[in-house]
Amino acid sequence: MYIDYPLPRREGIMGRGTDIPTFTFTFTLTPTLSHRGRGRIILYKDSPMPKQDPTERTTGFLKKNLETLPHKKRFEYLNQKLRGIIQYAYKNSTAFKNKMESVGLKPKDIQTIKDLEKIPITKKAELVELQKKNPPFGGFEGVPISELKRIYVSPGPICEPGEMEYSELGWAQGMYAGGFRPGDIVINTFSYHMVPFALHMVDNSLHRNGCIVIPTGVGNTEQQVNILKTFQATGFCGTPSFLLNIGEKAEEIGLDLKKDLNLKVGFVAAEMLPESLRLKLEEKFGMVIRQTYGTADIGCLGYECLQKSGMHIPDDKIVEIVDPETGKQLGPGKTGEIVATSFNKVYPMIRFGTGDLSIVTETPCPCGRTSPRLIKILGRVDQVTKVRGLFVHPGQAEEVVSRFPQIEKYQVVVTRKEHKDEMTFRIELKQESLQPEKLKEEIEKAIRDVIKVRGDVEFIPKGTIPDGTRKIDDQRSWE
Ligand SMILES: [Zn+2]
Repeated sequence: MYIDYPLPRREGIMGRGTDIPTFTFTFTLTPTLSHRGRGRIILYKDSPMPKQDPTERTTGFLKKNLETLPHKKRFEYLNQKLRGIIQYAYKNSTAFKNKMESVGLKPKDIQTIKDLEKIPITKKAELVELQKKNPPFGGFEGVPISELKRIYVSPGPICEPGEMEYSELGWAQGMYAGGFRPGDIVINTFSYHMVPFALHMVDNSLHRNGCIVIPTGVGNTEQQVNILKTFQATGFCGTPSFLLNIGEKAEEIGLDLKKDLNLKVGFVAAEMLPESLRLKLEEKFGMVIRQTYGTADIGCLGYECLQKSGMHIPDDKIVEIVDPETGKQLGPGKTGEIVATSFNKVYPMIRFGTGDLSIVTETPCPCGRTSPRLIKILGRVDQVTKVRGLFVHPGQAEEVVSRFPQIEKYQVVVTRKEHKDEMTFRIELKQESLQPEKLKEEIEKAIRDVIKVRGDVEFIPKGTIPDGTRKIDDQRSWE
């Protein structure tokens, strides 16, 4: 994700960089933006030292009573919220009522999270289809359209309602957990056009945290740099790759990222965040960057705290990890599809199938938040293969291979012999190995460690695997 938002377009592609007159800040506020402390005024301009951050960003909670609920109490709280939203949605959302009736369910049949298994999962494709038949929201809305503030239109095409009073908690919790504090001046570089993320979700959540937003939107990198410098902005919201662009542009025009800019915290989404990129950006800017995950349909489903121990599930959602084939819930530690339920009465999504794969953990987090966490987003459900009852994803195969720099190319082949699944990593090496048996053993051990399924390794001559082939080739036939 991270993940499901339409990726912001870059300058010149969508026209954000061309249809708005470009202007450059030629004035500077720097000498007057001062840090007051015990009567001392430190001018930022030409300051030889990196600026200190007087804000306490490492402790506290946005909603302490919810975020620190003991396990059993959390379960009771969520079950109670669930019963409420089921009653409400059955009464007010025609699409949900139809779904319940299609399997003979009444609201009283859903009392706990476990009961959710009885309700069929709503997939994105189904949402698009129903919205086409019954625009704009396919009957999933829980209030009359006249009571909305906005209608958002995301790629798909898929519409999302914007309620009068934004009430979602998740993104705001994520910002707080990542160190955003009241008084932070934040550039929001997500796209404000059409889609709900920047305007509805991020902007409102920054406001909830007491931050001041500069709604810069996508693109115009040089102007973003000028704004960061002029206003000594302390926060960034956007994609990690765009933050990298901003850093490169700032350096190109001769700025020192730590002395001339004042970024302290970053809230990133809509793209994978490799750890190497995070560390590079944190080091370059002298800031802390935390990521978040969610979808435009249902909102935030996970956010990182400062511990980087996975993504906490917000307190206004129920997240199930399910077997993508049966829809049945899997326990902690098992790979499955993320299926989410929100308590939002305007758009009560019940068992929305994200199509993303993850693993959940309930082990305590040192930050003090007691919510379960998504360990990481592993990839998409439609790329997954089941081998001996366990899901295998190309991302896992990639992780195995990334441990061995000797490997040039690979393909995983799944076959079936005598009613047993067999998984073979066919591998081309950069150079012939001097100890092929030892290397084979090491790779097979890594397969067991990462995928939890035994796999064989077969070395094949360079050039055997054609370009563009699937990473996992499932050759089993099921007649
Ligand atoms: Zn935590």
